[in-house]
Amino acid sequence: MALLAMTACNKKQEQQQTPAIEDFTYHVDQFYDLEILRYRVPDFEQLSLQQKTLVYYLTEAALRGRDILYDQNCKHNLCIRRTLEAVYENYQGDKNSEDFKNLELYLKRVWFSNGIHHHYGEDKFLPEFSQDFFTEAVKSIDADKLPLWNGESVDDMLARIEPVMFRNDTLMKKCNQAEGQDLIATSACNYYEGVTQAEVEAYYAAHKDTSEAPISLGLNAKIIKRNGVVEEQVYKVGGLYGDALSDIADCLKKAAEYAENEQQKEVILNLVSYYESGDLHTFNDYCIAWVKDINSRVDFVNGFTETYGDPLGLTASWESIVNFKNLEATERTEKIANNAQYFEDNSPVAPEYKKKEVKGVTAKVITAAILAGDCYPSTPIGINLPNANWIRQQYGSKSVTIENITEAYDEAAKGYGTSKEFFWSEEEIERSKLYGTMTDNLHTDLHECLGHASGQLLPGVAEDALKEHAKTLEEGRADLFGLYYCADPKIVELGILPNMEAYKAQYYEYMLNGLMLQLRRIEPGKDLEEAHMRNRQMIAQWVYEHGQAENVVEFKERDGKHFIVINNYERLRELFGELLGIVQDIKSRGDYEAGKALVETYAVKVNEPLKLEIRERYAKLNVAPYKGFVNPVYKPVFDKNGNITDVTIDYTEGYVEQHLRYSHDYSVLPTYNE
Ligand code: ZN
Repeated sequence: MALLAMTACNKKQEQQQTPAIEDFTYHVDQFYDLEILRYRVPDFEQLSLQQKTLVYYLTEAALRGRDILYDQNCKHNLCIRRTLEAVYENYQGDKNSEDFKNLELYLKRVWFSNGIHHHYGEDKFLPEFSQDFFTEAVKSIDADKLPLWNGESVDDMLARIEPVMFRNDTLMKKCNQAEGQDLIATSACNYYEGVTQAEVEAYYAAHKDTSEAPISLGLNAKIIKRNGVVEEQVYKVGGLYGDALSDIADCLKKAAEYAENEQQKEVILNLVSYYESGDLHTFNDYCIAWVKDINSRVDFVNGFTETYGDPLGLTASWESIVNFKNLEATERTEKIANNAQYFEDNSPVAPEYKKKEVKGVTAKVITAAILAGDCYPSTPIGINLPNANWIRQQYGSKSVTIENITEAYDEAAKGYGTSKEFFWSEEEIERSKLYGTMTDNLHTDLHECLGHASGQLLPGVAEDALKEHAKTLEEGRADLFGLYYCADPKIVELGILPNMEAYKAQYYEYMLNGLMLQLRRIEPGKDLEEAHMRNRQMIAQWVYEHGQAENVVEFKERDGKHFIVINNYERLRELFGELLGIVQDIKSRGDYEAGKALVETYAVKVNEPLKLEIRERYAKLNVAPYKGFVNPVYKPVFDKNGNITDVTIDYTEGYVEQHLRYSHDYSVLPTYNE
């Protein structure tokens, strides 16, 4: 009997086997400035039934938060998305007309950005179809298919959303961080309403938690003014976004039944209780339990996590990633983590800024099983959490690199021809082929598990001292740590890189990207805004200028095109080390003015003619500057008693199909949330 069952089971598994890299089609779709890829989930089939079931319920919890992010990004986003989807699915007119095609394009962009503002550039993008067409199209479909709010008429709804969609003088930027303006009044995101920046700052100053174990004030709340009083609307079951959070909590409770161990069960149940109460002390408990859970194979992030989207950097957007450990690759990061103290002790920063004892640096390589909320469709390739510094200091942090996502980027990139166009010579191209992916993964590992975890603040220095430049400088610090150590003989000694030649692939690509390639993403006339892009230019520009007298890195011209040439890799490493010392000094002393000067001198202004040249060269390659993903589809298989006997994975769903399905199956929030 047992043998028979096993045979049947094996046969079934063969049919669902994740294809090998060479048999997998990564490309899904391309439009505007976006390419959609899919990613493999290798080894999913090798998980136990319990682990697969756990993954399944966690992915269900992940998908149920999608609408929260739309509403956080701008209060009109859900109404606009639902109206567009209603037209897209029910329109009876000519679906081949240019207007309809442009509506489809706009809807695809809205899905990608989780709203009407560019996911990266933050600017509102305008429809390329006419307002008249839109009005007519909306009016041509059944009113009961439209997201009418509190029994309003179609005209009233259009009067509200059309200016938001079509006018170029309202809600133009999702998150404004330009100095000297009221950041709340000039940002379209929905973290505040009816309050000024000064009122919010006064509110939080009055509620500051000065205890030993402070809560992350404002992390899960919108600030509004009711009857003249400034107050928080907390994200919780029964509160703001309550319908979605209650569904998420239900899925998490199911997941908890399949937890791999008691520690993991505690993590999940803490999260449930935090969603139910909205209490940030419980969130701290959850974070601490989560850091301690290092033995489970399956892991997840689910919640209000990163604060990049709030102009004041306090309230977090909702996101989720479900994942499981990639056992083979994790050996690599464990080698790094086990030597964390060596790296800290030998880093080129002043002794008083070094941690005497680096603890809790866990590092692993994961396989993402689902991307959701602010990690979808565009996603990070590494994560380091929790964000609260006191928890990181006392309990450590978990740091991961998501290798199946990197794999998808790398495999898709093989067809683009970028290295032929932008690399100086065969030498750089060859080195990149041999060591590019390897050193890229290593740089991400070093950035995440050592870079962010390294160094310490001097006593009395406030964690938010660097204000609006904090993210740029922190990302810069982590990148520099990674760059410096990519070229350390210790890495070769540990067997992580094969020789002292490999790191040059990473150096070349980093400099090329920081000085040139990333400019392709910036529209003519615009400067750098996003923290990661700023940090990359800050580093590349600083070492370029400081190495100029010795000709360490130079621009060369060939056939009217610009190229980067690195003449002295050893000296370049020293310059990375010098800058790391400077950035660490700024961070440790909380020197706002010095940080600001560094960012403003090197990170913001772009070389306009060079940018235009790169955009032109890129345009010929037809490579989309931004990429995102569709998720695989997980389906539980039930026996006649309703028990899950397997979870299958399917890679065939398209981009449009997926978003329409999510909107049908996972959309429980009201069109406007208050
Ligand atoms: Zn980082």
